[in-house]
Amino acid sequence: MTDKQGYVYLIGAGPGDPGLMTVKGMDCLQRAEVVIYDYLANPLFLEQAPQAEHIYVGKRKGLHHYPQEKINQLLLEKAGEGKVVARLKGGDPFIFGRGGEEAMVLAEADIPFEIVPGVTAAVAAAAYAGIPMTHRDCTTTLGFVTGHEDPAKKLSSLDWEKLATGVGTLVFYMGLTNLENICEQLVAHGRDPQTPVAVVRCATTPRQQTLDGTLTDIVDMVRSADFKPPALIFVGEVVKFRATLRWFDDRPLFGKRILVTRAAAQADEFCQHLLSLGAEPVLCPMLEIAPPESFTELDRAIDQLLETDYLVLTSTNAVDAFFSRLAELDLDVRALAGIKLVTVGPKTAAVLTSYGLKPDMIPADYRAEGVVDILKGEVAGKRVLYPKAELARDVIPEQLTRAGAEVVSPVAYRSIIPAGTFEKLEQALEDGLDLITFSSSSTVTNLMALLDASGKLKARQVPVASIGPLTSKTAEDEGLEVVVEPGVSTFDALLTEISEYFINKDT
Ligand code: SAH
Repeated sequence: MTDKQGYVYLIGAGPGDPGLMTVKGMDCLQRAEVVIYDYLANPLFLEQAPQAEHIYVGKRKGLHHYPQEKINQLLLEKAGEGKVVARLKGGDPFIFGRGGEEAMVLAEADIPFEIVPGVTAAVAAAAYAGIPMTHRDCTTTLGFVTGHEDPAKKLSSLDWEKLATGVGTLVFYMGLTNLENICEQLVAHGRDPQTPVAVVRCATTPRQQTLDGTLTDIVDMVRSADFKPPALIFVGEVVKFRATLRWFDDRPLFGKRILVTRAAAQADEFCQHLLSLGAEPVLCPMLEIAPPESFTELDRAIDQLLETDYLVLTSTNAVDAFFSRLAELDLDVRALAGIKLVTVGPKTAAVLTSYGLKPDMIPADYRAEGVVDILKGEVAGKRVLYPKAELARDVIPEQLTRAGAEVVSPVAYRSIIPAGTFEKLEQALEDGLDLITFSSSSTVTNLMALLDASGKLKARQVPVASIGPLTSKTAEDEGLEVVVEPGVSTFDALLTEISEYFINKDT
């Protein structure tokens, strides 16, 4: 025991979509010293509490649930040590989550606590499946029912007659294995056998699946689809609105697992776009930007900026690497006065602009070849500085030298494979993927280099989306099947083409 008073937050973590935890819940989580969680809470939440000890009390492979008694003990023990404890519970703590029992234990032990409500699975699943749980035209009453009572009691202790006819919309939690019994009881007690029923599993996640039927045929549908929990059963006329109101599971990339191999620092926007199209991005960065082995060459080139006529920047990484070295050498953008700035495309231009500089030239073709095309007519006798990636292609130095320029091309950065990538990749291939995206040849080369023969075989079974022709060539040389390559090499174009691909494939 310490003098410090422990404190427990019982937090509703929502149904799965990490955006569905309350701001208050997130705030409590960030202040916690201990986080106690189970499988229904999204694992991403743990990243919000890196400061805390994380204790998993959910189901383990092959083992039974962590007994409630032990969870209660753990709460008392950690709070007794004077810790701030965040107990994350799926959905809402007070709806079929035994939050009431946990709070009672705390109250009896005089441990101060707070209950932070959450979006319960029924509310969330209804919204994400397009089922308005009440509607003036068909129902004004709503019931949340457990389909799996305390095993000591029997499901038949529910008052079926009143449920069947007295409540308009019924939502059953934990009812999947009892579905047959639920449907039979409702019909036997007076509910129309043609009443619409929807079963929604893994609601609000990219794995959400819904079956639409009636009290008569839903059992067979669930059986033949081999539906697994967690799932909710919606019974009532309101279910039919889903045909018109569904919005979540009919987006173009819904449920597609897409491997993103870009460097983590640059993948965020791409992943957000994939998410908004309904996909499940699986982040597995194949490269990470690291400084060059030595700065000697780059520093010498920076030293000679006064005699330099052109600065060619062919990637956002090159821009960042160049300007960060400039700053380390105690210089700023004034060192570039009078130099013509060339960027390979609009993204690189945007990053350059963020340093307060506008490019003078951007080629129409966003590749090294495009840069050569716009420069070759005017660089004879000029000095061109091209800070490049280690292992960059030689197109620019070779062709511009041929055009009469003096090309200085120091290595400004290297790309390396981040630690932990192999494990992530193996897991992703194991779980199954619908598409692999590549944003450069080196992402392809790195991915294939990590895999053994059987891993390569697995990867070759997954279709590939590539940012442009060079990346596609590398992928095809590795035996991969490129199914998407946009006309222009931008991420927006890539996303559009990926959507097109799946729309055409699925129809
Ligand atoms: N306290 C939780 C419910 C816990 S009981 C809440 O308020 O949501 C667990 C049951 O909730 C599961 O068996 C399932 O019926 C339902 N459930 C939880 N998350 C779900 C999800 N994402 N999709 C469908 N059902 C879910």
